[in-house]
Amino acid sequence: MNIRLFRPSIGQEELDNLKGVFDRAWMGLGPLVSEFEAEWSRYIGCKMSIGVNSATAALHLALTAFHFPAGKKVLVPAITFASTASAVLYNNLVPVFVDVDEETAVMDLEDLQRKIDADCVAVIPVHNAGYPVPMGQLMEIAARHGLKVIEDCAHCAGGAYNGKMLGTWGHIGCFSFEEKKCMTTGDGGMICSDDPELLEPLKPYRWVGIDKDTWRRTVAAEGSQEDEAMHWHYDISVLGYKYNMNDVMAAIGLAQLKKLDAMNARRRAIIGRYLEGIKNIEGIKPYTAYSLRGKEAYWFFGIRSANRDELMVYLKHKGIATGVHFYPLPLHPLFKTWDNGCPVAKEIWKTFITLPSHVELTEEEIDYVIEAINVFSKEHATLIS
Ligand SMILES: *Cc1c(COP(=O)(O)O)cnc(C)c1O
Repeated sequence: MNIRLFRPSIGQEELDNLKGVFDRAWMGLGPLVSEFEAEWSRYIGCKMSIGVNSATAALHLALTAFHFPAGKKVLVPAITFASTASAVLYNNLVPVFVDVDEETAVMDLEDLQRKIDADCVAVIPVHNAGYPVPMGQLMEIAARHGLKVIEDCAHCAGGAYNGKMLGTWGHIGCFSFEEKKCMTTGDGGMICSDDPELLEPLKPYRWVGIDKDTWRRTVAAEGSQEDEAMHWHYDISVLGYKYNMNDVMAAIGLAQLKKLDAMNARRRAIIGRYLEGIKNIEGIKPYTAYSLRGKEAYWFFGIRSANRDELMVYLKHKGIATGVHFYPLPLHPLFKTWDNGCPVAKEIWKTFITLPSHVELTEEEIDYVIEAINVFSKEHATLIS
């Protein structure tokens, strides 16, 4: 057995769409990006989406949209991927780490309220592993303190909370289509909002500052002779980035989006089988409070074990790849400067093990992983006694 931790689910549909890209010989930012943006907006139910080349870029630009003064503070969970907090630093803002809830491993709303002060301008909740932050409560807290809310939906494409799609609760939602995430475009991301006036100005920011529309509006009427002669012209009005999605990514994304609900359903089934399999194993608990009622999108299944490191080594020898999501950000050298406590995060991460839970996993492989954990736990219990 050799079981990968993550594996994208890609096949003929993606290849067929890519064939179209090759036939048209247009690989850059083009019509497929617009089509994917429109499909994505329809799918999650928001007014506007902008395709970019990663969720890291999406988070960076989502904060840029608000033009917060340098030095203001943004609240982020202590347990998340680096990009959530890097986006804060890219914008010359200050990250404030919020501890996580012991059981769910997402932002603890009590600690959030303790950490808010007059310099805080925004909060970035992360639906860690796909477990939704209680967004109704979070939006109330944010409104009370005048905070903008950017949802980091890198782990929950297609997921909903209380009947409303994740990514549509906050002012802006950011998604990742990196190869390991719920659906993929190789690398890619999406910025979504119900406020087109907030998102529209981000278009030149994702495209090295190029703004064709301003020049048209101010200089020449579309279709006029001057417009035709100056077809090559564009204005650079902002310091932009090379963050655009391209038609190769969008072609894959359009095929993946059609499969997203089925892939999320398969992951829920895998998680159901794992939960059943581990429930009587001593010393093993689920990573988060997985609930399987219907529209959840979980990125991965994980467990907690007091013997984390030994169990990971044991599983490795059995041909089972595992991971840790995540080592708390305030413990990293880059983010130590902003370490402000977060004792729960610093304790529970030591027990985290991410298990293979990608959609191509077979029932046989899941049972093999469960059995390996079972054998380890029995042997370990004997060792202790
Ligand atoms: C993966 C991830 C990102 C970054 O996604 P990319 O598309 O790889 O840039 C951001 N936030 C979280 C929580 C992630 O897990």
